[in-house]
This record gives sequence, C-alpha cells and structure tokens, in this order.
Amino acid sequence: PGVKIQSPISDYLATLVSQNSKDNPGANAAYIPELAAVNSDQIGACITTVDGYVYGAGATSVEFSIQSVSKPFVYALAIEEHGLDWVLKRVDVEPSGEAFNELSLDGEQLPKNPMINAGAMTTHSLIGEGKYSVDERFEHIRKGLSAFAGRDLGVDEGSYKSEIATAFRNFSIAYMLRNYGAIKGDPGDVVKGYTRQCAIRLTAEDLAQMGATLANGGKQPVTGVQVVSPETVRQVLSVMTTCGMYNEAGHWVCEVGFPGKSGVSGCVLGVLPGNLGMATFSPRLDVAGNSVRGVRMYKQIAKEMVLHMMLPP
Ligand code: GLN
Repeated sequence: PGVKIQSPISDYLATLVSQNSKDNPGANAAYIPELAAVNSDQIGACITTVDGYVYGAGATSVEFSIQSVSKPFVYALAIEEHGLDWVLKRVDVEPSGEAFNELSLDGEQLPKNPMINAGAMTTHSLIGEGKYSVDERFEHIRKGLSAFAGRDLGVDEGSYKSEIATAFRNFSIAYMLRNYGAIKGDPGDVVKGYTRQCAIRLTAEDLAQMGATLANGGKQPVTGVQVVSPETVRQVLSVMTTCGMYNEAGHWVCEVGFPGKSGVSGCVLGVLPGNLGMATFSPRLDVAGNSVRGVRMYKQIAKEMVLHMMLPP
C-alpha cells in the first residue's frame, strides 16, 4: 500500500491518458500569472483504492497548487471543529448555478455553498475563528490537508505571491462578505490565508490519497489515521456532488455520477465512496474553470468502468 503498482488498472489508466493526450483544447487559468505559465501538455491520472493501492499514468508526480480542491477538505476541518449544525448557520449548501467567483449569497446573506470562493473564504475564516492568528489558521489547515494526503504538504510561495498580487476580485468578495456579516475578522487576512491555502502544493498521487481518505469514511488508507468522522465525510461528499464542479455540476453528476471537485490549476478530484479516490491533472480549463481533459477522462472512465453511483448493481 502507498506505492504505485503495475496492474491491468495501471495499463487501463495509461491507455486513458494516452487517448486523451492528443486533443488539448481550453486555456490555462489566465488570471493567476503563475498558472498561465504552466506547461499545458502535461496530463496524468491516478487512483488510490480504500485499501491503499495506488495506480497511475502520465504526470502523477508533477507538483501543482491545489487551488479550489482545498475547499472540501477545509470544509471538513471546519465541521470537525464546530459541528455541522453550527457550520450550516454560516455557509449554506445550495448549488449557486453561478461561476465560482461570484458573490452568490442566499436569502439570509449566507454564501450559497462552501465550494465557491465566497463560501470557501467563509469556511476558511471559521477555522479557529476569534482564536487563531492568520499563520496559526493556515498551519492548522496545512496540517489537516497533510493528514488527508498521508504526507507533509508544502506551499508554492510563487503561486501565492502571483495570485495575491492580482486577487482584486477575491478581496472584493471578502469585503462584501464582511459587510453582510458572513465573515467576522479582517477581510484582507481572510483573502491572504485563503490564497495561501489554495497554494498548497501536491501531486496527483497526493490528491488521489486525499480522495481515498474521503472514500474510506475519513480514514487515511495508508497511515490508518482517522482524519475526520464518517458523518463529516457524508456532508462533504454530498456538497461536492451538487456543487463541486461549479456551474457544470449538473452535467458532471449525470455523466460521471460520483462526487468531484476541480481547481483552476487543472486538477480534478473524484471520490467513489467505499472504493477509491481519483485525481487528474491537465492545466487547460473550460469556461466553467474545470480541466477539459480531466473532465473528459472522468466521463470516459465512469462509462467504461461503470462507476456511476446511480446505476443499479
Ligand atoms: N485560488 C483560486 C481563486 O480563489 C481558486 C479558484 C479555483 O480553483 N476555482 O480564484
């Protein structure tokens, strides 16, 4: 367990990656200069099963910044810290139907869900709210995500600096959130902490491990650490199912049929409960901000391997 192995599954992934590597439409995220410069030919897919076996093909050990795929994990940490009922009073769970970087508040002026930036910045602010400094909050999050991955994760300072220098839109959203009372601390600190959270650096192999921890009821399959409770996982995967792929969440769930979460660095996390965590990496995005070839590989594997959760056994 924990080591990449050769098998018919890795052969399948090699075919999947090679079939999908040819046509490469879309564009790298342009609003974060560091991401715009990433080599867009890279493509990889990795799977970790709930018993810790790792299968991968292509660029599975290339490091990238986690970006929005941090959102479900920090949501999990917030629920563990405060309990679900309390967290639900601060961030709603309705799909927004809008882009990830819209303000998207509900009738009570709560962010609509924790998978969009408004909800994720609020969730970030809930970690040690009123108690932690910016650095302490970030360290708690970094350690928490590391426990999901089963190894100590670092930060891509270049990506942080590049994004924070141009994060005008997230600053605007955070100040609006502060105006509506959704966040309580200094909005600038929340954006800085959230942006550093998005700059946590990892590989597709790490991300598949994080997904496998969710698939395994919150228990890291290789280290054996119970990172979060099964009830927390239930909440996180439910929200990932309805909101993880932004305004493409509906198409995703119909065609892929299990929870997913994308990040603007080109990574996509997939979780098949009780079975496996999966991660793809391919930097070019569609208009919704999801990796084009990543989504394509998930659609293909879901169909060919019959993974859709709503199919009868
Ligand atoms: N750091 C990015 C942002 O806040 C994350 C967005 C994403 O991955 N969709 O804009």
